[in-house]
This record gives sequence, structure tokens and C-alpha cells, in this order.
Amino acid sequence: MSVVIQFIILIFCCGTLESAKLQSFSTSEDTQGLTLELIFDAPVKAGISYQANGNVHIIRVPGAISPVFKGRQELDHLLAISFHIKAVKGALEFWFYPRGFFGVSLLPQLDSQTIRIHAKNGYPTREQINPDGKFQVVCIDPGHGGHDPGAPGSKSVEKQIVLALSRQLRDEINQLPGLKAVLTRDADYKLKLEDRPKISDRVGASLFISLHMNSSLPQVRGYEVFYLSEKGATQTLEARLGEAHSQASESIDSSNSETSSMGAVSSSDSILQQIIFDMQQVETLNSSAVLANVLADHLKETGRRSRGVRRAAFVVLKTIDTPSVLIEMGYITNKDDEAFFVSPEGTKKVSSALAKGIYSYLKEQANHPKKTLKEPATVKKSSGNQAGAVEPVYAVYTVKSGDTLGTLAIRHGVRYSSILAANAGLHPDKLFVGQKIRIPVLNE
Ligand SMILES: [Zn+2]
Repeated sequence: MSVVIQFIILIFCCGTLESAKLQSFSTSEDTQGLTLELIFDAPVKAGISYQANGNVHIIRVPGAISPVFKGRQELDHLLAISFHIKAVKGALEFWFYPRGFFGVSLLPQLDSQTIRIHAKNGYPTREQINPDGKFQVVCIDPGHGGHDPGAPGSKSVEKQIVLALSRQLRDEINQLPGLKAVLTRDADYKLKLEDRPKISDRVGASLFISLHMNSSLPQVRGYEVFYLSEKGATQTLEARLGEAHSQASESIDSSNSETSSMGAVSSSDSILQQIIFDMQQVETLNSSAVLANVLADHLKETGRRSRGVRRAAFVVLKTIDTPSVLIEMGYITNKDDEAFFVSPEGTKKVSSALAKGIYSYLKEQANHPKKTLKEPATVKKSSGNQAGAVEPVYAVYTVKSGDTLGTLAIRHGVRYSSILAANAGLHPDKLFVGQKIRIPVLNE
């Protein structure tokens, strides 16, 4: 009798093994998250487990095979989540790696041949965070996280310093009228560079600010504010790459052979090229330039050394329509800079300077709603040996207390770069009350 029973079980097992083939695999994404549908050609059962070590959710389908996917297969086109399909002995496994505020659940099966898995997106939507549209949302992005520690210091690492600073900045911003702040990561986990601006977009941020610490020779210190470069990115980057941050991989995957440890792109990058020729992006770039200068100005009140405002083609800044900056707050390899950022007083000083800068930028924007920037007006020269050639028209402006080139650019609706171009030798950090500068007059 017992021989017969064993025989039947064997038949059942073998039948399942041979017939439960994965036939199709589809994903759909909406604001709630992501749903995966796995359709097999025979009845299957699945179980879900979670491994805290590695932060991975595993859906196991015993007895299933996949003729479609061989070995380890990564699908990674989703918002802040990736998963692998693995063929293991006697089963198929679906490994989910949530990088943000995600929960993963196995939904009731539609029928015995279909498995549905839902990964819930825990980031708020713009409607959730700002239901009446009364707030302006600031997205703060603490660099690195998880397996990517960023630059190492003597008693700290970049990912910790920038997270502490970002939390403090969020709290400061949340106390300001009309503003709300959201972090791209509020814990120590991996977050892909490309997903960070997506989170900013999801929460409907008015601006995006990515915080980092730099590394270099011990004597180098101070802060630098970056916005996206559409030109000359390679020179800037080559110089930067030789300089610093060589330890601080922005890539979440260490096997990824990105030439740039800064997660930057080359100027030949086709997406970047497309963005540049998009006029919307030119306006955004101008706003980013203004924001960068406003923040750099406010950081002066921390009494620390400014290394200026620069441009670089950072992936994390490639947003389509949100003014974005990346700030290298200081050098973690410099004793004074590190001590400053490890201390609560230092964190407090920097975050309140940034909060004030963000507030003044957004207030200025609100008072002077963004308009399409026109080209500077020109007139024909009526005399001289170049008669008939055109020359730009300028208005002379007398600098008042509190003016920055950034706020002047917003107020007059001109590009930051065109004010610089109109004033040979003008240094953005050296603006004096009473100084006369030329502001381009724009076409009607
Ligand atoms: Zn960094």
C-alpha cells in the first residue's frame, strides 16, 4: 500500500516540475506602486519571505521553471526598486530590492496559474503632500547610502553626515511658512542616482537640492555649489575627477564601470544633449543658476570658505523642469571641515543658512512669477566704422543692500549668464552696495 502512495506523490511532483512554466511576465506602474503579473502554464503556489540582512523580499515559486529567463535576470526600470529573477534548484525566485519607502506583498492569486505581486510605493504623491496646492515642496537628497558610503573621513563617512544635515534642513524648512520638505532617503539605504530626481518629481518639488561631502588633500576645504552644465562638462569633470571624490562612488553597483565616480555624464550624452536643446530646460538651467548663487551667498554666513558656484553634468541634476543644485558642503578629508560637520552646531549653522537661502529664492520666485525669458534687445549702431552692426541695449542698475546676481536675474527676468556677459570682469561674489552694473534690456 505504502509503495502505491509514494508512486502517486512522485507522479504529482514530476508533473508540477515539468508543466509549471513561466509563460508571461508583465509589470504595470501607477502612483500606488508596481504590480507584477506572472502567468504560468500550470497551477503553482508561491510563498513570500523577507531577509532583513540585505533588505530583500523573496517570492518563491516551487516547481516552476522559466524558459524565458535564464539564470539571474535583473529588471530595473522601476521607480526606486529593482528585482532579480533567479532559477534555483526546484524553484523560481523573484528577489525584490526596495531602495526607498517600499512594502512588498503577494496579492491573492487570480487563479492558480497567475501570481500577482504588489510593491507599494511609500513616497507621498504631490496630491498627498500638498492637497490644496498651498505649499511649495523642497526635495532634499542626501547623497549616497547603503552599500555606497561616499567619501570617508577620519571619524565619519559622507552618507552619515549628509543624512544628518538633510534631516536638520528638512526640520528647518518645515518650520517656514508655506514650505514643506521631503527627503529622497530618510535612512541608510541604496538609492539609484536616476531615481532621486524621480522622487522629486513625484512629490511635486519646486526645487531639488542634493547634499554631499567632498574629499581631497588634507589642506583643501570649503563648499562648492553646482548646477547642471550643458557645455564644457568634460573639462570641468576631468579637472574634478583628478581632484577629488575618487573614493566616493555615486554608483550603487560597484561592478558598474562608470568612468565617473561622481555619477556624471559626458557632454556627448544623448539625453543631456536633448535636454539642452529643450527650451524649457534652458529656463530651468537659468533658475538652477540663480538658486545656486542664492544658496552660495547664504552659505557665506556660516563663515566657511566658499569655493564658488560651478557647473558639472551630474546625473542627479538631470531633471526636466525643477531647479536643481548639488552642494559639496565641505571636505571630509579636511580636519576642520569634518569637525565642523560632525558637530551639532555646524550642522545647525549650515542648515539654517540653506533654509534661509531656499526661502528667499522661493519668495523671490513667487513675487516674480517665472516668465519666458526673452532675448536681450539690440539696436543698430548709427555711427563708427561698424555702423549698421547691432549692439545690445542695457539699463544701468545701482546695487542695493541684499542684492545678489541671482535675485537681480529673477527680478529683471533675465538670464544670470547674460548679466555676467554684460558686465566684463564682474565677480558674482563681489557685489557692492552702490556699484553700477548693466542689466540687459529684453525684447518686447
Ligand atoms: Zn558625494
